[in-house]
Amino acid sequence: MSEPTLYELSATGRKAVSLPECDVKLATIPEHLIRADNGLPELTEQQIVRHYLRLSQRNFGVDCGFYPLGSCTMKHNPKTSEQTARLPGFAQIHPFQDEAIVQGALQLMFELQEQLKEIGGFEAVSLQPTAGAQGELTALLMIRAYHAARGEGHRNEILIPDSAHGTNPASATMAGYIAVEVPSDGRGNVDLDAVRAACSGRLAGIMLTNPNTLGLFEERVEELVGLVRESGGVVYGDGANMNALTAIARPGDLGIDLMHFNLHKTFATPHGGGGPGSGPLGASSQLAPYLPSPIVERLPEDKKGSVEYTLTCPSHSIGRMSSFHGSFGMFVRAYSYLRRLGAPGLRAAAIDAVLNSNYLRVRLRDDYPVPFDRTCMHEFVCEGQPKGSEVRAIDVSKRLMDFGFHPPTNYFPLTVREALMIEPTENECKATLDAFVEAMRAIAKEAREEPGRLREAPSATPVRRLDEVRAARELTVCEPTLRT
Ligand SMILES: *Cc1c(COP(=O)(O)O)cnc(C)c1O
Repeated sequence: MSEPTLYELSATGRKAVSLPECDVKLATIPEHLIRADNGLPELTEQQIVRHYLRLSQRNFGVDCGFYPLGSCTMKHNPKTSEQTARLPGFAQIHPFQDEAIVQGALQLMFELQEQLKEIGGFEAVSLQPTAGAQGELTALLMIRAYHAARGEGHRNEILIPDSAHGTNPASATMAGYIAVEVPSDGRGNVDLDAVRAACSGRLAGIMLTNPNTLGLFEERVEELVGLVRESGGVVYGDGANMNALTAIARPGDLGIDLMHFNLHKTFATPHGGGGPGSGPLGASSQLAPYLPSPIVERLPEDKKGSVEYTLTCPSHSIGRMSSFHGSFGMFVRAYSYLRRLGAPGLRAAAIDAVLNSNYLRVRLRDDYPVPFDRTCMHEFVCEGQPKGSEVRAIDVSKRLMDFGFHPPTNYFPLTVREALMIEPTENECKATLDAFVEAMRAIAKEAREEPGRLREAPSATPVRRLDEVRAARELTVCEPTLRT
């Protein structure tokens, strides 16, 4: 289906605005800078508004419908957080302003650090990293600095379970480490024997995702942490799955030394299309001196009882990871979410996220086999090939779009064949979950009876099935008429 472009809609003489008569002296513009025809489209305001609104409606977002994309936590973006972030004092602040006149913003950052410390069980938190992946890289650079300071700079191996997110090995490699894969065992946990075998004097640390990307809590996490620590390794926690644990268990208490939080997952800030993410990093007392700067500190009360906040640099800091102070707008949104829910609200959110996910797992497992079928956390992974059919997970996902649902995560983790990773989040009501189950069951029936229908899906969307590899490699973001 092709939409007319603004150029095709254009007609000479149409105008979107009427400017008043010019009442100042005209400047003379050099002749050679003036073009008679600059080729811009001419349209009415209403045409423009309708054009862009129509285009915007082709996007699917958390505000349009159910978005069970596993490992991404596509939970709601509260409108109260948006309102707070738009307060002029926050929205129009500038990072070059003097500390003395941005005390409120520094206080917000300080309190956010404190809240994340409490949630994670850490000694200190830096708000610098602007994504989860950057939090990983930051942590690995800190691990390097930590070992180097102890005269153990030769440690060059990082253990990464086979179910880990792709960013883990990428970050380890970027930090100059050798990524050593460790397999999962039959219950979906990290194989402890394999970890034991991989522990040596070369071990720098492990990157552990708990709950892991199968949505399963690591049953022997303390033993696992113990093995790595005994070998002199640092335990890094990938905190992308904190939606299941927030206000219930603290990674720091489990022996995790470093962990990133994804404000755009667990704390309800928008994902922003790859833009303004935020991946604050928590650290234990051993690693805290290496955190990136700046960190906000509260100075002791002065004689008049007033409090001041200031930016500081940890004693062995690895330096900056981003310009200025991080994604400040995201701090405001996450802070306002945290303050609104409080500890009881956060705990309820985690419990509901786990409940919703288990509800879907049990209601779907007769049609979609669940290979590690035990109580899951906030997400679970099933096989996307319905029982008794030949279709693939991608076909099921594409057909789901015809039913108005965003597909789950496809083909990840790699440890499950035809994987569909489903994360409903705490926000969805039972009616939505039931509608999703009905759609998934209807699709399973179609898969057995008329599989061709799935292979041709989607049929109700503005564009049909795309060649995703080609679309990613040959990115064309211009309007067709602008291409030369
Ligand atoms: C999302 C995610 C990451 C990366 O976080 P980004 O903010 O997308 O960079 C890392 N690990 C896991 C398990 C994730 O789900």
